[in-house]
Amino acid sequence: MSRSPSIPDRPRLDLDPEMSPEERLEALREHFITIAQVNAELDDQLDVAEDRRDDFREEVDRLERENGALKTSSLYVATVEEVTDDGVVVKQHGTNQEILTEVAPQLHDELEAGDRVAVNDSFSIQTTLSAETDARAQAMQIEHSPEVSYGDIGGLDDQIREVREAVELPLLDADQFDEVGIEPPTGVLLHGPPGTGKTMLARAVAKQTDATFIKMAGSELVRKFIGEGARLVRDLFELAMENEPAIIFIDEIDAVASTRTESKTSGDAEVQRTMMQLLNEMDGFDDRGDICIVAATNRFDMLDRAILRPGRFDRLIDVPKPDEVGRDLIFQIHTRNMSLADDVDFEALAAETDDLSGAEIESLTTEAGMFAIRDERTEVEMADFREALAKITDDESATEPVAFQ
Ligand code: ATP
Repeated sequence: MSRSPSIPDRPRLDLDPEMSPEERLEALREHFITIAQVNAELDDQLDVAEDRRDDFREEVDRLERENGALKTSSLYVATVEEVTDDGVVVKQHGTNQEILTEVAPQLHDELEAGDRVAVNDSFSIQTTLSAETDARAQAMQIEHSPEVSYGDIGGLDDQIREVREAVELPLLDADQFDEVGIEPPTGVLLHGPPGTGKTMLARAVAKQTDATFIKMAGSELVRKFIGEGARLVRDLFELAMENEPAIIFIDEIDAVASTRTESKTSGDAEVQRTMMQLLNEMDGFDDRGDICIVAATNRFDMLDRAILRPGRFDRLIDVPKPDEVGRDLIFQIHTRNMSLADDVDFEALAAETDDLSGAEIESLTTEAGMFAIRDERTEVEMADFREALAKITDDESATEPVAFQ
């Protein structure tokens, strides 16, 4: 912290009694100028001092808050077991001790068995926690009517037909399966490279059947919600039952259902528990009502075969990268709302974009639009698409791993 600046000396005036009136006047004038200068200097110093005082005040506030936080003791997390007239029975997490405790009247009315609460050292309930619902909400995405229809998906006619048979038919016309005497598939697994439309297919079938779309990412289950995977899988199925008809979509299922590894780290054990819970839920799903389970993976080769047994993910649908005709259609779909110049030729673009996925074609069309905007045009031309393609291919080759000899 800088030191305070020194205060200027007080100006003094010694008048010689021998001075003529003119000399006196001149001396007084000079003294006045000196006083004005010192005054201005003091004003500046006052401003600086006031700024520093504000800074110190903020610092004091911050330290007081920190001190307050350090002084309050931590609270324990517990679950309400029973609300009685004599008090509330809670079970403390970790120790599993059951305690009959008191609770403020305003909280008493709000509490229900199963609520999570924070208790202090003497186990009195301080507050209720909504963290579980938060974790549930964070881990799962719910859409009541997804904004995707089959018409938005290009080049996947066979896959659309298969998804309709495996998901749409059992939801809309379950009797047909009873009449024929066969079980509808329990789970549908979409597998194929990234960005090929697997999520779109699942959302479109939810839209078509008026079902709630509930998405959970396998990778998040094991990365973000460590220790909660199995419980969240249970919650996922409960949530689906509350929202029937529903489609449960588990993206990146390989994260929870990879071939067992040899190592026995706690992370692996957690993944195993999550997968076992998933299998349990699926196995106990005979009377499944109006719920369909769809999963997706880019790593079919890594999947534990246990999840592919009959009664689990028993319908496999391969979703490949689009062929030339498919790419042409995907270009048309993603340029529906764009102003295009007459020279744009999707057939030619489809021929030049071998190996691009649907997602890459979508970003190529956006990139082409950006080139037009940069050029201050409102119409997108064929040259913009070609430039966008060159950029996307360059970006890709720049991110490709370098092979060391
Ligand atoms: P990932 O395996 O990476 O999760 P995915 O196969 O689930 O990918 P989607 O999320 O369905 O891919 O697709 C991403 C985006 O790419 C979509 O929002 C869509 O705009 C576009 N897209 C992909 N495939 C197609 C397609 N066949 N037709 C139209 N658009 C597509």
